[in-house]
Amino acid sequence: MNIIKAYKIRCFPTEEQKLLILKTFGCCRWYWNQALSDNIKYYEKNKKSKINTPASYKKEYEWLKEVDGQALCFTQMDLQSAFSGFFKQPNKGFPKYKSKKYPKNSYKTMIANGFPIDNETIKLPKLGKVKIVNHRHKTGIAKSCTISMTPTNEFYISILWKEDEIDEILPKVDKEIGIDLGLTDLAICSDGTKFPVLQSLRKNLSKLKREQRNLSKMIKGSNNYDRQKLKVARLHQHITNQRKDYLHKISYKITNENQVISLEDLNVKGLLKNHHLALSVADAGWSTFVKMLEYKAKNKGRTVVKIDRWFPSSQICSCCGCITGKKPLYIRKWICPECGGTHDRDYNAAMNIRDCGTRLLAW
Ligand SMILES: [Zn+2]
Repeated sequence: MNIIKAYKIRCFPTEEQKLLILKTFGCCRWYWNQALSDNIKYYEKNKKSKINTPASYKKEYEWLKEVDGQALCFTQMDLQSAFSGFFKQPNKGFPKYKSKKYPKNSYKTMIANGFPIDNETIKLPKLGKVKIVNHRHKTGIAKSCTISMTPTNEFYISILWKEDEIDEILPKVDKEIGIDLGLTDLAICSDGTKFPVLQSLRKNLSKLKREQRNLSKMIKGSNNYDRQKLKVARLHQHITNQRKDYLHKISYKITNENQVISLEDLNVKGLLKNHHLALSVADAGWSTFVKMLEYKAKNKGRTVVKIDRWFPSSQICSCCGCITGKKPLYIRKWICPECGGTHDRDYNAAMNIRDCGTRLLAW
């Protein structure tokens, strides 16, 4: 449900900012050429390719530290893909040195949490607030930016913008739903739907653990360490995006289809203190999910009811309402001694949560 949009706006850096932008163009070009030439030398000796990280040059060439480090990282990625492109399709041509005479003056940057942008400014790494003309009056958080200069010395920023689906007040529906949050299934709904924790997410998480272990074995400051660190950071980012996308999708669906959404007010912080549960809870992304449900519901005119976490949702029979007592976690199915109804532990809890939400709302 996320739409990535790009748009380009004019910006007006101060003289000081202009200088730093030009320096960044220069550093990116210098790094590209240096890494390219070092890689060629390395290849002639060892018959394999090795691209030095920007960080590995920073000791000797301290001025590299002055500019936005992400810009250099993106240059490294570009160089890497230029090489792998060449190895795959040699007719594409060998990566070329970048000329000072015919420069392509631009650099790309990003930060994990995005760039704050308002009607007049955007905040960029190292540069600080840069004046912009934001005709579209879009404010919020931009994902990544490319800063460029035209041959006529005008400055522009291309912004990649991640937009949520457009939420608007929806016509009322009759359906009410209770959601039980779980670990194997992220959400079990009283209407019978289950949203599992993504298998691909699980796989990536165990991959991340492996890569992090590898990183901890490496010598800090070595080329291998830097490369591994970048790898871990990228995988981390990928997992975050993957989880968010999934949570967006299901919270979008649930808030579209239901008028009242009831769930337990989980004490996630408390759960996180319990080490055994902690990782799975963090993996499942419960708190993010609940936050998404809440703001989407609000924008669509739906209601989220949070039920006290001491409500014994798994102890009550959802048919007759009798309290059947605590059941250990391994019991997945049980029969009510009062009415004889058969219950799946999770659905039963979800139905109780739904009914409790309805009662609370009526009250
Ligand atoms: Zn019963």
